[in-house]
This record gives sequence, C-alpha cells and structure tokens, in this order.
Amino acid sequence: MTRKYHTRRRKKRRKFKFKIDKHRIELFLILLIIILIAISSSLSSCIKTKYNSSSKNIFSEMRLKRHLNKSYPVKINEVTYNWKSPLNTKDFIPTQIVLHHTATSTANPQLVNAAHLANGWSGIGYHFLIRKDGTIYRGRPENAIGAHVLNYNAQSLGICLEGNFENENITAAQEKAVTSLCGMLMDKYSINKICKHSDLYNTACPGKKFPFDKIYSESKEKAEEYKKLPD
Ligand SMILES: [Zn+2]
Repeated sequence: MTRKYHTRRRKKRRKFKFKIDKHRIELFLILLIIILIAISSSLSSCIKTKYNSSSKNIFSEMRLKRHLNKSYPVKINEVTYNWKSPLNTKDFIPTQIVLHHTATSTANPQLVNAAHLANGWSGIGYHFLIRKDGTIYRGRPENAIGAHVLNYNAQSLGICLEGNFENENITAAQEKAVTSLCGMLMDKYSINKICKHSDLYNTACPGKKFPFDKIYSESKEKAEEYKKLPD
C-alpha cells in the first residue's frame, strides 16, 4: 500500500512540475507576443508620423507656391533691430495679411520696436510699418512669426500704418504703398486673404476711417499685375 501510495504521489508531483513548466512557457510566450506587438506598434507610429509630416510639407508646398526670388517694384527700407529673444522662423506659413494702424498720430520703426519690447516681446511685432509719407520700413523678417494678432500670428503677415484712423485719414502715399506691398505679398506667397485686425480680435484697429474695401480691391489688382512679372 505504501509503495503504491508513494509511486502515485511521485507521479502526481511530476505531473504538477510539468504543469508549472507548461505555465512558465505559456507566460514566456505571452510576454514575447506583448513585446513584439509593442515594438511593431511603435515602429508603425514612427513611420506614420514621418509619412504625415512629409505629406503635410508636400501639401503646403503645393498650396503655397512661393516666388521668393521674384523681383518686385516695391521699395522696402531695411532696419536693424536687436531682437531680445530668438525669432521663430520654423513654423511660419503666411496665408493672410492683417492690417493695423499705430493708433498714434506719429510713429517710426524705432518707437514701435521700443513699445513692443516694453510689452515683453522680442521686438517690433509687425512685418512692415508704412509711414505717412508712404515709406515702407521692414519690421520682423518675412519668414518669422510676428506678434500683432493674437491666435493668428503663425499664419499672418502684419502691416501697420502710421496714424490713428479713428479720427484721421490715410494719406494718398500710404494708400499707394500699402496696395503695392499687399499686392507683392499676395503674389509672392500665394495669399488671397487680407483682414483688418478687428476682423480677428475685439479692437477698433485699424480705425473706422480706414478704407479697407478700397485697399483690398486695389491690392488684388496689384497682385494680378505682379503675377505677370518674371520669376
Ligand atoms: Zn492692430
């Protein structure tokens, strides 16, 4: 009885050991499968991200045909600024032009720059400033994100005109300059949209006396004219 009993017990133990080994192998296989799934999913997400970003770039290139080396008959006066912090030139895709006034009767690039520095910004936030005599001054580089229209800076080129058009009129020289500049930028960056600051933000800028419709239609005409210029 005892021999039989012991043999049975040994057999049972062996069976039990085999069961444990089987469980270990199963557990190992499950872990292996989980690891393989994790590796393959991370690889596929990597490929997806790469594919998406490259297709996005291709799309942007197609949508925004640029004429960066075209020569336009628009005189822009370069100004040197000491930017307080580096400008973002990586993420700027201009798809619209936003028009502003300085809201002061007189202003020059240095004054606007000082005011914007005082706001804690890198420096002048507009890409261009047009004085009353029609002189166009450079603000931020055309390839850098500006600081002039909250929530829309990454896609907006900003042009500011000297004056307060709540109570004064734009000068003939300014009108000529702003339409030429807008026409140039529209052709150069394939832009169709011009906005007033007040279209995108709760502000009076560029003032109730600003002749927006006239400037918009004249700018579109200029853009058509510049389209014919050689690349
Ligand atoms: Zn404004």
